[in-house]
Amino acid sequence: MSYLNIDAQAQNTYDAIVIGSGISGGWAAKELTGKGLRTLVLERGRDVRHVTDYPTTNKQPWEFEHRNQLKQEVREANPIISKCYAFYEGTEQFFVKDAEHPYVQDKPFDWIRGYQVGGKSLMWARQTQRWSDFDFEGPARDGFAVDWPIRYADIAPWYSYVERFAGITGNKDGLATLPDGEFLPPHEWNCVEKHFQQKVAAKYKDRHVIMGRAAHLTQPQPIHFQQGRAQCQHRTICERGCPFGGYFSSNSSTIPWAAKTGKMTLRPHSVVHSIIYDEKKGRATGVRIIDANTKQMQEFYARIIFLNAAALNSNLVLLNSTSHRFPNGLGNDSGVLGKYAAFHNYRAGISGEYDGNLDSTTDGRRPNSPYIPRFRNVLKQETNFLRGYASGFSAGRMSRSDQSGVGADLKENLLNPKLGGWYVGSHMMGETIPKESNYLALDPSLKDPFGIPQLKISIAYDDNDDKMVKDYQEQLTEMFTEAGFKNIRVRDSHAAPGLDIHEMGGVRMGKDPKTSMLNKWNQLHAVKNVFVTDGACMTSTSTQNPSLTYMALTARAADYAVKAMKKGLV
Ligand SMILES: Cc1cc2nc3c(=O)[nH]c(=O)nc-3n(C[C@H](O)[C@H](O)[C@H](O)COP(=O)(O)OP(=O)(O)OC[C@H]3O[C@@H](n4cnc5c(N)ncnc54)[C@H](O)[C@@H]3O)c2cc1C
Repeated sequence: MSYLNIDAQAQNTYDAIVIGSGISGGWAAKELTGKGLRTLVLERGRDVRHVTDYPTTNKQPWEFEHRNQLKQEVREANPIISKCYAFYEGTEQFFVKDAEHPYVQDKPFDWIRGYQVGGKSLMWARQTQRWSDFDFEGPARDGFAVDWPIRYADIAPWYSYVERFAGITGNKDGLATLPDGEFLPPHEWNCVEKHFQQKVAAKYKDRHVIMGRAAHLTQPQPIHFQQGRAQCQHRTICERGCPFGGYFSSNSSTIPWAAKTGKMTLRPHSVVHSIIYDEKKGRATGVRIIDANTKQMQEFYARIIFLNAAALNSNLVLLNSTSHRFPNGLGNDSGVLGKYAAFHNYRAGISGEYDGNLDSTTDGRRPNSPYIPRFRNVLKQETNFLRGYASGFSAGRMSRSDQSGVGADLKENLLNPKLGGWYVGSHMMGETIPKESNYLALDPSLKDPFGIPQLKISIAYDDNDDKMVKDYQEQLTEMFTEAGFKNIRVRDSHAAPGLDIHEMGGVRMGKDPKTSMLNKWNQLHAVKNVFVTDGACMTSTSTQNPSLTYMALTARAADYAVKAMKKGLV
């Protein structure tokens, strides 16, 4: 009997286990297999194969049963995800439905998830900016959270490393606040966006309007062709999955790359329940899963474990990994696990109209738009709130379709819409301050369909966020006015946190094990063979879209982990 058990254990033993196959898990899989480790990737959702599993990718609007709109009953059944702009008939298959995986909103929180191979990398908006030292030094300088254990110099080479492979379009703008990367050629501006850029540059020394940096192949390099990816076609229906691999997703890039090594075992339908801690060995030895099809619990073992279930779920897995040694969650000697969760403040926006450049219009589509890096409180504290915001910006020509006439006249009118003036718009991307009172916990009684405690989310905006919204509205109004825009209207959606889909923290990095969970290599201070490299590790949020930083931190941690394994350190 014992022989059989030993056999079963050997069969289920790998060098490394990666939990989650989204943006960060895909990178962990690629790096660990690339360095020769037999790696098991555990993914709770179904498999989604590049191209073959993008059922709506080539559909025209008229080929959808509901013209690519959500049915009223879908909307009513999914009040949370229906708030997300990317959820429509063509993308329904990639979003977790509200009722499927319940969680407890101690305070209102719109949790947008993608449970499948590739995670949210299929649906994301692909904006990718580097952090700078203004971001990594933020908490120490402004006295909140704890100091990051790393600085820009620690991660800069890893940004370059992941950018070259993922393919990032952008312009080298030479800004200290937003370091340049290894860019493919930038996207083009339209004349009103250019006009705004020039007006802002003429009035403000410290405010810049630049072309967005995004994970699109504007000019694929040999490394991208080797991945089987091709040039972005500007179809702008990316969130349905791209058959060209024109944007970066785990499905088109890291997961098939890892598979090619022959070292990866991908196990979909594997809901990770907890990480197994061996008290005698003083280390994690493996992972317990519930098989989503059979509902049976199973164990897998490995020397190192990368936790990449996305920020909130990684908190859940650690909180649920209890033992005599760690009664309050794995590695939670400090008591900070689940605390200091943070997110981005996307509540505010502004729109306007412009009656110049009426002799010009736009031509074609562009899967990207201009970006205004943070300019508030960068060199000194200058407002009544901490930190600042970045902003998106774009301009386009208004058009009105003329549905009058019949037959050839109607056709003619529809094909030649009447052009109006220009509309301009921007949205805010604000930093929030991680606080102990914004926390994640396990609900003591409610369980999910797999018998795992439901996650209780207790996260809210505060006074700092409200002041930031007001400042964004005032400053952008001033900038829009300077550019000659008219009919300027500001808005505050007052939406609950969550729709920014940039949740972070709860397993933060830090120098001191008494106040943080992870060291500078993303290792749990107290369990050195467990690495957490998704958004859960973030000590603060800054304003940049976060996923590029998760990719770089993951590649860096994987490099360290394999070297440490070889030296017998983990
Ligand atoms: C509409 C939209 C727009 C976005 N735009 C941007 C953007 O422009 N720029 C940007 O930087 N970010 C953007 N994001 C956010 C971005 O998608 C996430 O930051 C990123 O995907 C996080 O990577 P991850 O690996 O942590 O998580 P994910 O990509 O979500 O992957 C996590 C994986 O873990 C799996 N998993 C979860 N729990 C378990 C478990 N218990 N057991 C096993 N597997 C589990 C999930 O099924 C999933 O596959 C956007 C997201 C959305 C939805």
